[in-house]
Formats: sequence, C-alpha cells, structure tokens
Amino acid sequence: MLYRDLAKVYSDLESTTKRLEKTHIIAELFRSLNGEDISEISLLLLGRVFPAWSDEEIGIGSKLVERSVVKAIGTTLDKVEDAIRDEGDIGLASYKLFQNKKQTTFFSKPLTVNFVFDSLRKLPKISGSNSTNRKISIILELFSQATPLEAKYLTRNITEELRIGVGEGIVRDAIAEAFNIDKNVVERAQMLTNDMGLVAIVSLEEGCEGLNKLNVEPGKPVKPMLAQLAPPLEEIINEVGLAICETKYDGIRLQIHRNEDEIKIFTRRLENITNAMPEIVKLINDHMPHENFIIEGEVIATKNGRPLSFQNVLHRVRRKYDIDKAMERVPLKVFLFDLLFYKIPLLDEPLLERRKKLEKIVDTSSDDLKLSTMVYGTPETIPEVEQLFEDSLKEHHEGIMIKDASQPYIPGIRGKKMLKWKAEPETLDMVVVGGIYGTGKRANFVGSYLLALRGEDNEFKSVVYAATGLDDDMLINLTEKMKEYKISEKGLKINVEPKIVLEIAFSEIVKSPEYETGYSLRFPVIKRIRSDKGLSDVDTVERLISMYINQ
Ligand code: AMP
Repeated sequence: MLYRDLAKVYSDLESTTKRLEKTHIIAELFRSLNGEDISEISLLLLGRVFPAWSDEEIGIGSKLVERSVVKAIGTTLDKVEDAIRDEGDIGLASYKLFQNKKQTTFFSKPLTVNFVFDSLRKLPKISGSNSTNRKISIILELFSQATPLEAKYLTRNITEELRIGVGEGIVRDAIAEAFNIDKNVVERAQMLTNDMGLVAIVSLEEGCEGLNKLNVEPGKPVKPMLAQLAPPLEEIINEVGLAICETKYDGIRLQIHRNEDEIKIFTRRLENITNAMPEIVKLINDHMPHENFIIEGEVIATKNGRPLSFQNVLHRVRRKYDIDKAMERVPLKVFLFDLLFYKIPLLDEPLLERRKKLEKIVDTSSDDLKLSTMVYGTPETIPEVEQLFEDSLKEHHEGIMIKDASQPYIPGIRGKKMLKWKAEPETLDMVVVGGIYGTGKRANFVGSYLLALRGEDNEFKSVVYAATGLDDDMLINLTEKMKEYKISEKGLKINVEPKIVLEIAFSEIVKSPEYETGYSLRFPVIKRIRSDKGLSDVDTVERLISMYINQ
C-alpha cells in the first residue's frame, strides 16, 4: 500500500468524531489488505510502529523533526516555529509548509507504507557519533518524496502523536467487523499479546481459530486483570461460594517475567521498570525457580516494618539515576498473589489452582518476598474474612481483595471476579482535560484542573474543576505536564490532551448542567497523581451515575 493512501485514510478518520464511522473506515481498509500491510497498518493507525508490549519507541523529539522540515523545504527554523505556533501542531504546520516545497526528485517512486514503517523502526537503533545527522537523513529521505498531506502525517507518525482519535478499542472492533470474528475473541487476543499487528494478521490469515491459539509468553507483558468495588461481604461470598480473600497492599502492581536467564519487571501499564528495581530482580532470581514464569504481586515501600506512602514507591519506579541511594532510602517489599505462566500458560486454570502452584514454587524465606496474606472466604468463614480486613487496616494496608477462586485470569478486564473492599471513602480516577492558570504569586502555575471521566463512546466528559490537595511539588510537576500536553491556550485557560490521571476524593456527587456529564463533585480534593495508571484505568461516567444513585 502507498503511504499516500494511508494518509488519506488518516485524514478521513480525523474528520469524524463518530466511533462507528471510524470503525467502518478501518474495517473497509483491513478487508483490502494483505498480510504484511495489515500488521504494519494496524500499528500505524495507533500512531506506533512497535507493539504495546515492547518498550521500544521511535524517540524522536519535535526539535529534530523541526530541523528536518527546515532542511526538506529549504526554509528557516523561525519560519517553521512560526507555522507551528499559528497552526497549533507540527502536522498542520508541515501541511502548510510543504505546499511551498519545490519538487526536487521528478522520477522518484512514491512512498510505500512498508518503507515508512521500516524507516521509523530504524530510527531508535541509531546511536553513537553523528547519530543526530544520520537520523535527520532518514527523515529527509521520507520527506523528500512527501506531498503536503503525507508530510502532515509523517511528522505526526515520527513524533508518535497521531491525534486522529483512534485507540485500541476502535482497531479491535474494526478487525472483528472486517473478518466477522466475535469482538470478545479479538479483545482477549489483544489483552494477552498486546500486539495489534499480530492480532490483525492472525485474524486475516487464520480467523477466530488462530486467535484462540494465541497465548501469553514470558518476556511480553499481559494487561492485568482489574478489580471492582465490592458489594456487601455476605452477598459476594454467598454468590461466589469460595473466595480467596487477601490483604490489599497500597503500592504498585508488578508483573514479573522470567524467560530463560532474563528477568523483567513491568507495571500495569506494561512499562518495563526492571532497571529501577535491581533488588527485586535479585530476590526473584534467588527465591524463585529458574524456569520460565510470569507472576504478579504488589510492591510496597516499607520502613521499620511499616508501609510508607504510595508516592515513595512511585518515586522508586521513576528513578533513573542513583538507584543505590534510592534503594537505601526506600526499601521495597513484594507480596505475590498470582501465577500466569509456569513452564506453560496457566491463565485458564482456576485461581485456586494458580495460587496453590504459586505457593509451591516461591521460597518465602526472605522478609522482602512474601505471598499476600490470605484466608479462604466461604459462608462459614465470614468472621475470618472480617478479621483479615481489620488486621490489614491495623497493619496500615488499604483493605482486602475478594477473588472468585473458580475463575480464570481474564486480562485487561474490570469485572466482578476480583473485588476490592477498602476502608477509605471511594475515590475516582479522573483524567485532566484542561486547567486554569493562577493569578498573582501563582501566575506561572496551573492552579485548577478540569477533570473528566470516560463516556460510553470512550470520549472523555468533564465533571469538575479541582484545585485543592496539591503541595508545591505536585503543582510544579503538574504544571510542567500541562505545558507538555497543551493543545491550546486562551487567557488563563489551557486545554490539554487527556494524559494525566489523578485520584480524586470528594464529599458528594451532585447534578450539574455546567459539565458535559450532567454531574459534578462537591469539594473535590486531588489525592495523588496516578502515573501508574493509564487512560483505560480512568473511571467511567457509568460508575459516577451508579455512585450517585447509591449515595
Ligand atoms: P484499584 O487500583 O483501586 O482498582 O485496586 C486494584 C489494585 O490493587 C491492583 O491492581 C493491585 O495493584 C492492588 N493490589 C494490592 N493488593 C492486591 C492483592 N492482594 N491482589 C490483587 N491486587 C492487589
């Protein structure tokens, strides 16, 4: 396929906000493609060239792209920067600038998607002396043959900021529609492999049967199974029959993989954080069998046996330098609770079996690597479960998890099979879509944040402005992020791309025509920045309404 045809599809997708329309456009495209094209294009539609499980990225900043545009069209950096300021983004600016570009290569071949894809994949591999110039020359080769529309999307592909409103959900639905496969089968395959290219090509070549054969592989992270808030305890236990009830630790979820000699640690957002936690790698190497496996657990920070706040663990995760010092200051402890792979995939086994196997293979002689504290929940043992809840709170943990012991591991799904029961009032994970700069001494900071929840169509809908709960560090940190994700600014108001997830406490939900959801929160307080959570973790409008009805 020619890149110019993909650019036309990008443009069609950008011109509609309707999810169904986007799905049809992509489904129609998929039906017309062959093997290699479909796997590359399904990634390119998501604005990437590496699958989600991979931590590789193109890694080209906007400055380098600007310099390449300058060379490609023979203009000055000032003119390119002016165009970006006028148009609001490098893609639109390039569209305008490339209209004045002289055609230099009359007999050149048009760009193919495959050539663009391979070139983008080459970029992160270039390092060492003269690497900047070598990167620019690869980008220039793409630009030399580009039409204005191609330039618009090439610049966005290079910076991995595609902005056409297409997420994994739409591409998955399009695959299901194009090849007449059950949406749930496509979704499961994607959650297991985190490789849309693979899911697309298997769908095209082998259909539903092929997708069903895909499974987890140590070394490639899986989307974690998610939890819902629990209804009253007796109700659940009676419904479930046998539950595994465990302490809920307030840290960060880890998925730890061993593949031959290599141990890798991933967050729930599939980020590879192995380098930030060398002591955990050693613990796992020393206290787990030298076989291939995937385990899950929660890592918390502790001091003198007492859990430290969640922010401490987050700092450890983000730390890139002086890891030794950080290890001393913030010691970590891991509580394991699930086994997804041990020599073979175990996702389809009931939790009860997975837990028993996990218990058999972990050597718990170290204080820093333990199994989560658990009791079996049955109608007869409800007092024991309540005791576990009380003990967990006494030990300064968050509450308990209640898991249906008969259930398989269902990646990426928030469901009734895994429930959480916390002591603290409920909070909402919300995404920032805008803000207002402060005045006076706070004029350089965004002081108030417009927060949104996920609607049915996966669009984010506003609920409330929150301004309290921020200490100075958080304020500086958030303002920097707001500038990074800025879409537009007018007066004191700023609009940003939905990227930053905040956990919000509040006193009450009220009806309010002022906001897109029709609801708002009274006394919203920003509890913490949840950089461990992604857009798919943002709470839904549906949950807000059900909380409103129940309050
Ligand atoms: P939440 O983030 O509030 O939806 O709660 C679910 C999270 O609790 C999981 O993603 C884990 O990070 C964390 N967690 C803490 N302890 C456990 C446990 N014993 N089992 C499962 N998840 C746990």
